[in-house]
Amino acid sequence: MVPFDTGKPSPARMYDYFLGGKDNYEVDRVAGEKVKEAIGEMLAGAVVWENRRFLQRVVRHLAESGIDQFVDLGTGLPTQGNVHEVAQEIIPDAHVVYVDNDPIVLAHGRALLATNATTTVITADVRDPEGILGHPDLRELIDFSRPVAVLCIALLHFLPDADDPAGILAAFRDRLCPGSYLALSHLTNDGVPADELDRVEAVYAQATSPIVFRPPERIREFFDGLAIEEPGLVRPWRWRPELGVEGPCTEALYAALGRLP
Ligand code: SAH
Repeated sequence: MVPFDTGKPSPARMYDYFLGGKDNYEVDRVAGEKVKEAIGEMLAGAVVWENRRFLQRVVRHLAESGIDQFVDLGTGLPTQGNVHEVAQEIIPDAHVVYVDNDPIVLAHGRALLATNATTTVITADVRDPEGILGHPDLRELIDFSRPVAVLCIALLHFLPDADDPAGILAAFRDRLCPGSYLALSHLTNDGVPADELDRVEAVYAQATSPIVFRPPERIREFFDGLAIEEPGLVRPWRWRPELGVEGPCTEALYAALGRLP
C-alpha cells in the first residue's frame, strides 16, 4: 500500500492535480508542474482528460451492451463521471468495485459512495490479484459466473516489467467467464520525444511509483487470450468517438477493449 504521507508525490494525487482537482498536496503540485514543464501545460491537461473520456465512453458502451459488473483497478480519486455514475445511468443497480493502493482514494471514495449500496472501494495493490479476487467486499458484489468488465485505465504504466503486469492481468482473466471484458489504456513512447519521456520518468522516479512508457506492441500483449474489439488498439480519441467525445487529441496513450471469447 502507498504510505499515507505527503512527503512524496503520489500518482493518484498528481493525476487529480492534472484534472484540476483539489485533493492534492504541495509536493504533488510541484511534481505536476515539473511534468507540465517537460511536456507542456496544455498537453498535461489534455492527456488526462482524453484518458478520462475514454474511460467514460468504454463504460457507457459496456453498460449499453448489458455489462452490469465492473472491477476498476487503479481507480484514482473521485472526479467527474466516475465509473458507477456512468454505468448506473444505464443500469441503475450496476455493481462496481473500485480498487486502488493509495489510501487517499478510499478516504475520498467512501465519502462519495457511502450512499450507494452496489458500489464499494477496496484499498489493495494490483500486484496481489489473489488478495483482490478473494476480498470479501469484492465477492459480495461480483459474480464471476456472469460477465464482468475489468478496467485497467491508466494503471499499468505504473508497473515496471519486474512487477509482471501481464501475469497480473492473467490472474484476473483466468477468473472471468466468456463474454467478460478488459478495457485498458496505457501511456506510450510511440511518437513522443525521448527527452520529454526522460524528464517525466525522472519526476515519477521521486514519487511513490515509477512510470513506464511502453510501445504499442507491448501494450497489445496485455490482451493475450482476448479478442480486441473494433476499432482495435488506438489513440483514445479514435476509440468510438461517436459515443461522445469533445476535447483534446494527443499521441500520449493507447487504448483498447478486449473480450474473452
Ligand atoms: N483509472 C483512473 C485513474 C488513473 S491514475 C483514470 O484513468 O482516470 C492511476 C491510479 O492507479 C492511481 O490512483 C494510483 O494510486 C493507482 N495505482 C498505481 N499503482 C497501483 C497498484 N500497484 N495497485 C493499485 N493501484 C495502483
